[in-house]
Amino acid sequence: MKSNKIEFVKLAGDLATFRVSDVAALSKELRRGIRTFELEPSISKQQRKYVYALIGDLGDATGYETSYEKAILKKGLKQNFCEDTETPYFSLSDVSKEVASQFIEYLIEMCLREGIAPTNKLVWQTVDVDRQVWWCLKYRYCTVCHSKQNLQINHEDTVGIGNDRRHIDHRGHRLECLCVQHHAEFHKIGAVQFYEKYHFHGILLDTEQVVEIGLMSQKQCNQFDEFYKQEALGNESNSN
Ligand SMILES: [Zn+2]
Repeated sequence: MKSNKIEFVKLAGDLATFRVSDVAALSKELRRGIRTFELEPSISKQQRKYVYALIGDLGDATGYETSYEKAILKKGLKQNFCEDTETPYFSLSDVSKEVASQFIEYLIEMCLREGIAPTNKLVWQTVDVDRQVWWCLKYRYCTVCHSKQNLQINHEDTVGIGNDRRHIDHRGHRLECLCVQHHAEFHKIGAVQFYEKYHFHGILLDTEQVVEIGLMSQKQCNQFDEFYKQEALGNESNSN
């Protein structure tokens, strides 16, 4: 039953309801006499705390101030999340741990898009490190302190002297967004110590991503791709 997800839905009297992700697989198991199933773990206290902290941040920034207004906001956000991700509507009292963590990521990204750095910094621990670096590049925050002031994009791999920054292919470099202080610190202590202190590396972006964040135009990417193609053809004809 490893691939099947069985989630607790509700308890009414002595009757418990569960939601099953793969009904056909479950009925097959039942026919074979298997009666022991693993339940999906439910939302943790910590996760619930993160959800309320993030909704609080979004509410404060968008004029949902009272607890009554925040409850309305919470309902709307849950509905949007469920529509966007095709998830059945849920309650924060018993939703699965997995859906709770997807909802937390959804709220964090929404905060960042709205220009709000989450006040509870611990929420970042729920997000994969490379995704944190990407979001900070995409929504423009310092990856270390989440400031929006004086941001610069750091090329983690050295851009050689004489290698004009306006004419480099950014797709070939590990990138991260840093404020001016943390950028200076990066160059002062070096990439190795910086990683030991802050535990993230820059990430490689693809064409769609560099265009999306306005680092390169589609035309520039095409020009580089054409250049690589010509170069490869040249090497091929040389070796023949
Ligand atoms: Zn910073």
